[in-house]
Amino acid sequence: MTVGSIVRNQVKTQVKKKAINWVWSGLAATVGIPILIFTLAGLCLVIVLPIMLLAGGAAWDDFSSDYISGGGPVVSPIAGSWVLTSGFGEDRGDHYHMGIDLAAPAGTPVLAVVAGRVTISSSGAGGLEIYLAGEDGRLYYYAHLSGYAVSSGQRVTQGSTIGYIGSTGRSTGPHLHFQVKENGRWVNPLEVLNKLVPEVLPNELSFKPINRNEVSAWLANRKSRLADYVDIFERVGQKYNVNPLLLLAITGQEQSFVPVGSSDKMLGNPFNVYGSWVSYSPGLEQSAEIAAKTINRLSLNRPPGVHPIQWINSPSNPRGMYATDQSWWVGVSKFLGTLERVAGSGG
Ligand SMILES: [Zn+2]
Repeated sequence: MTVGSIVRNQVKTQVKKKAINWVWSGLAATVGIPILIFTLAGLCLVIVLPIMLLAGGAAWDDFSSDYISGGGPVVSPIAGSWVLTSGFGEDRGDHYHMGIDLAAPAGTPVLAVVAGRVTISSSGAGGLEIYLAGEDGRLYYYAHLSGYAVSSGQRVTQGSTIGYIGSTGRSTGPHLHFQVKENGRWVNPLEVLNKLVPEVLPNELSFKPINRNEVSAWLANRKSRLADYVDIFERVGQKYNVNPLLLLAITGQEQSFVPVGSSDKMLGNPFNVYGSWVSYSPGLEQSAEIAAKTINRLSLNRPPGVHPIQWINSPSNPRGMYATDQSWWVGVSKFLGTLERVAGSGG
């Protein structure tokens, strides 16, 4: 079960309980059954639906693929967000569902989850299909595509576009049907995706220990509230294999390192993940985790020669941009350079 569905179920349960309490405390005594049913239906429309939409929106937003992982960089077979619409092993009457269905807009790029060799094919059920014989020894199967970006026999690198989301074959809407064969049997693709590690960040942006005291002193000198929280940057950087100084540099660009006197709310999301700290402030550590995951995700498929920080800020990045301001990466790079000089020595 994904985090998303857990959240949904909790929301559903809470709302149901509330609705039942209201009904039994007041309405039941005074109104008849038809009105009760009418009221419940109304409650569903007015309360349950918006809450579910909100919960779904917040949960899946741009980070759906994060939920295939308990944390750390993730590998996704689709560029951008998707919604899991059908799980592995579902009983379909005449057969079991040996893959997962991931809904995404038609035309969205479908990605090689590992390096390997592709074979294109087609069938009545699968429509346009791709088999990817991974260099990790597994076989990956993609179905219902609208088109191919590769030809049979081609070697592909991890994260490269191999086809596009469609609804060919036995399908009721645009989605990817995705299967994984391991040691001769079909296995749960979500579990496999959790094990795959993307090779995304160049060396200078990957984790390295920092000199915490030096960083903290530099921040204190700048009158930054972050001076007391350098350990969080290091911990999250290590967990997600991101240079802690890059995370810090982003807070410099986004929020001038949270000057003394700034609100707790700003301190709770100095990365402005999910738009802005004004509307979303989960706390420094959690927002740092989201920022680190975002950096990993946006770093995939960097074309040769493109600056790694510019790539996560690039309008041509298929997974989106960390910030729309095109001078963002220049500012971040400058802060990173400064911080590296101050305290990149480790210790
Ligand atoms: Zn399917």
